[in-house]
Amino acid sequence: MPPLDGAGAADLLVVGGGYSGLWAALLARQADPGREVLLVEAGTCGWAASGRNGGFCAASLTHGLANGARRFPEEIDELEWLGRANLAAIGTTVAEHRIDCDFERTGELAVAVEPYLLAGLAENAALARRYGQDVTLLDREEVRAEVNSPKWSMSEYGHQAVVWQTAVNPVVALELLATGAWSGAGVLGPEALPPRPFLDLLAGYGSPWGMEERSTGGTA
Ligand SMILES: Cc1cc2nc3c(=O)[nH]c(=O)nc-3n(C[C@H](O)[C@H](O)[C@H](O)COP(=O)(O)OP(=O)(O)OC[C@H]3O[C@@H](n4cnc5c(N)ncnc54)[C@H](O)[C@@H]3O)c2cc1C
Repeated sequence: MPPLDGAGAADLLVVGGGYSGLWAALLARQADPGREVLLVEAGTCGWAASGRNGGFCAASLTHGLANGARRFPEEIDELEWLGRANLAAIGTTVAEHRIDCDFERTGELAVAVEPYLLAGLAENAALARRYGQDVTLLDREEVRAEVNSPKWSMSEYGHQAVVWQTAVNPVVALELLATGAWSGAGVLGPEALPPRPFLDLLAGYGSPWGMEERSTGGTA
């Protein structure tokens, strides 16, 4: 978009081209197509938080109902209602403007990754039901049917293929410390220790290393 050069005039000035500003400008024009809306952005539209988030679209405006009910007991009814209306409006707007962003109403899945978290899940489910949400409690196998996370198999030795790249580095480092190939006093990062024994042992564990120069055809 062109930079604002000189003085601009409009019925409505929107500052910032993130989700908030862009959607506000869109709504303002929809409400009154004759209204002149000027949106100014200091950088590039969507460069900030709106262009780098995780892409999760949840209805809750309070990072979860339990958190909201605890912190805003007086306002939580309205916050919940607004959150649901907001999510529905996102869906409608995406469809109406044919925005190609893979928007899907999938529902949410909260998972207890340790047994002590199970009670909290059940409490949250009960709370959500009180607020009219449709909640199902799944057991381990039912969750695995939804998301086959390696988290379950990581605790069993011999089933760690998925996390090999994460696990092998500390294994190599610990072995070097145990054999004395790496040693030192104080708290040291891996950069402080000689790389060659690490790389040799890494190759010994079946993870060979190397460097390859690739040309992109460009210059730098
Ligand atoms: C790493 C990360 C992950 C996230 N993940 C999620 C998620 O999964 N789900 C979710 O719902 N939310 C998530 N969020 C939050 C969500 O992205 C933000 O709440 C949302 O994008 C905020 O939008 P915004 O338009 O208010 O702000 P921004 O996207 O930050 O836009 C503000 C814009 O205003 C411009 N601006 C500021 N001052 C001026 C000025 N004086 N003149 C001109 N322009 C100006 C800035 O340049 C910027 O472009 C995440 C945020 C981050 C950072």
